[in-house]
Amino acid sequence: MARYTEASCRQCRREGMKLYLKGERCYSKDKCAFDKRPTPPGGSPKRRTKLSEYGMQLREKQKVKRIYGVLEKQFSHYFDVAEKQKGITGENLLCILETRLDNAVYRLGLATSRKEARQLILHEHFLVNGKKVNVASYQVREGDSIEVKSTSRKSPKFKEIVETTENRAIAPWLSADLENLSGKVTGKPTREDIDVEIAEHLIVELYSK
Ligand code: SF4
Repeated sequence: MARYTEASCRQCRREGMKLYLKGERCYSKDKCAFDKRPTPPGGSPKRRTKLSEYGMQLREKQKVKRIYGVLEKQFSHYFDVAEKQKGITGENLLCILETRLDNAVYRLGLATSRKEARQLILHEHFLVNGKKVNVASYQVREGDSIEVKSTSRKSPKFKEIVETTENRAIAPWLSADLENLSGKVTGKPTREDIDVEIAEHLIVELYSK
């Protein structure tokens, strides 16, 4: 399976913002590499050079791909789907990314990061509507139930995860029952529900060239 190989914290420093790729340590000012050194990777802490319009569009796309852990081919496919849907293309794109199963698991607090969610899904710890799903890109829909399968519930891993995430806000389009390691999709994410700093119009402009 193709994946990002650049170190997670380096990706945050490259994008100039916290991308929350590493779980618990991202929330600790003492442990987060970006909080300690918010400069671009590679040598001296020189100032960021001003980007061209095209450069800004490219960076925005790269940032969103990194946040959601999606590679170019799949991202481009998501854009094609978003463009064909009714409504605003940029918002459609974000909605598709948000409703990936790995993101929903992370947003429910059943994983400390999207990366961890992907690993747990791949290792078949989750059921969607009672059926095993091991595809991180699986699109969840309103009404879907997501739960940790019964044989995985006793794993100390999930106890640790819930202890870490129990005080985090759950996305408004989801409802969580962390005690039972489960959740439900109660709606469709709106733009306001997506609390990540993203200028999606730049990505739309890039693909419209
Ligand atoms: Fe980014 Fe900080 Fe998390 Fe590292 S610890 S991935 S720098 S947010």
